[in-house]
Amino acid sequence: MSDRPVTVMWFRRDLRVDDHPALAAAAARGDVVALWVADPDILGAPHHRSPVRLRFLRACLEALDAQLTALGMPLVVRNGSPTDVLPVVAAQAGADRVYATGDVTPYSARRDEAVSAALGRDGVAFACIGGPWRVGPDALAGSSGNGYLVFTPFFRAWDAIPVDARIATPDVLAGPRLPSDGLDVLPVGAPAVPAGPTAARARLEDFIQSGAVDRYGDLRDDMASDATSHLSADLRMGVLSPAQVGRAIGAGDGVLATRQAFWRQLAWRDFYAHHMQRHPVVARAAMNEKFRGIRWDDAPAALDAWRKGCTGFPLADAGMRQMAATGWMHNRARMVCASVLVKDLLLDWRRGEAVFMRGLVDGDPANNNGGWQWTAGTGTDAAPYFRVFNPFLQAKRFDPTGAYVRRWVPELADVPDRYIHEPWTMPEEVQVEAGCRIGTDYPEPIVDHATRRVEAIERYKSAAERMGVA
Ligand SMILES: Cc1cc2nc3c(=O)[nH]c(=O)nc-3n(C[C@H](O)[C@H](O)[C@H](O)COP(=O)(O)OP(=O)(O)OC[C@H]3O[C@@H](n4cnc5c(N)ncnc54)[C@H](O)[C@@H]3O)c2cc1C
Repeated sequence: MSDRPVTVMWFRRDLRVDDHPALAAAAARGDVVALWVADPDILGAPHHRSPVRLRFLRACLEALDAQLTALGMPLVVRNGSPTDVLPVVAAQAGADRVYATGDVTPYSARRDEAVSAALGRDGVAFACIGGPWRVGPDALAGSSGNGYLVFTPFFRAWDAIPVDARIATPDVLAGPRLPSDGLDVLPVGAPAVPAGPTAARARLEDFIQSGAVDRYGDLRDDMASDATSHLSADLRMGVLSPAQVGRAIGAGDGVLATRQAFWRQLAWRDFYAHHMQRHPVVARAAMNEKFRGIRWDDAPAALDAWRKGCTGFPLADAGMRQMAATGWMHNRARMVCASVLVKDLLLDWRRGEAVFMRGLVDGDPANNNGGWQWTAGTGTDAAPYFRVFNPFLQAKRFDPTGAYVRRWVPELADVPDRYIHEPWTMPEEVQVEAGCRIGTDYPEPIVDHATRRVEAIERYKSAAERMGVA
């Protein structure tokens, strides 16, 4: 047995070996046991029961195992609560420390506290090193010391912090060999998109080499051109670090003007992580207190129509069907789908948040929550509640020819451009010619946008009045 100190490296949302501060620190001090825990509290939580994301996760873990094996230390998988598993693995490994990468959800904070206490009882130290963000929530306290509530000043402070230098992959990993439970708890099957560091690198390289990163500012909202990076699932699982993305686009030397829009967009991840850590209440309630008492409808049929992409609002239907088919949805469609659920169907944003968490490969508690609260107008940096998205104008602006809608709602494929976003206005003979009878092949809008808009504003206003802060 080696007399080098042993560290258990507990992988969570950091499924890579390159540019990995915690793994590098573990390897630098001696032997390493690489561990992933199949935590029933996470895998069994309704939010996380997402076959599409779990298949991607499994493929990422298989890729991580291959990387670790090549370095000399295969991944050990254990099923169970981390509070029980970590002390057992540390004892089996003869480890005196456990390292992990930080996280921000209320669950992860409770879990890490409990794990730290359990390990502490055995004299094993627990530390989080780095995080899935580029700039951690603690690094940006703002002038008040309480962090940022508004994105633009947050971005200015974030942008001023240099991109970290690359942390080298350990040359070799050595340590005790422990038995593994394997990955059987995760669903088998091809991931929605190729998973693992090679695939993620290829997506990043392609985004840069094709010039898409330089056109991002112009095209990111053009839904049909699908010109965004598609890196969200890689960042979600930590297959790529945001610093790797930053360095690849040249952020270390000041970002090229053409890449600023993309760089700024990346900062939203850190902004929402920042919120979730500093205001854990957002995970279950409106960030903005005055909107905690909004009266929502209880309309299961409307929720079901929305989920299936059958509301008669073409752009929202296209978005929901894109997610069902691919596990990913364009950001503009996410905003429109969310707005239709909340401001047209008058359903609680948390219902939509849960549907997205189950449907998205990149489903991320902080980003998803932030996106929903932003769109619902219940966050801090949201548009005022009386400014309600018009889903038909959004569609005309961001999908002017209807190409995105036609791709995902095939029953509208032959509808002429002028009717594509309001197909119920098609005259009878055009419906026949387009092979799309409204009410038979495709629904009329299940609610009237103009009426619901007024009702939504009224409900927000009365919720705020009840709090005495209209
Ligand atoms: C209602 C709603 C729900 C959302 N849910 C999620 C989610 O669960 N997971 C998720 O990663 N993103 C979520 N987003 C943000 C955004 O839609 C996706 O990150 C983006 O569409 C992913 O595609 P991309 O990788 O091509 O992004 P790009 O436009 O290429 O952006 C690059 C990266 O920056 C980050 N990013 C971009 N926009 C945002 C944003 N608004 N908020 C936070 N991070 C951002 C992502 O990591 C993304 O991969 C949500 C947005 C809304 C409006």
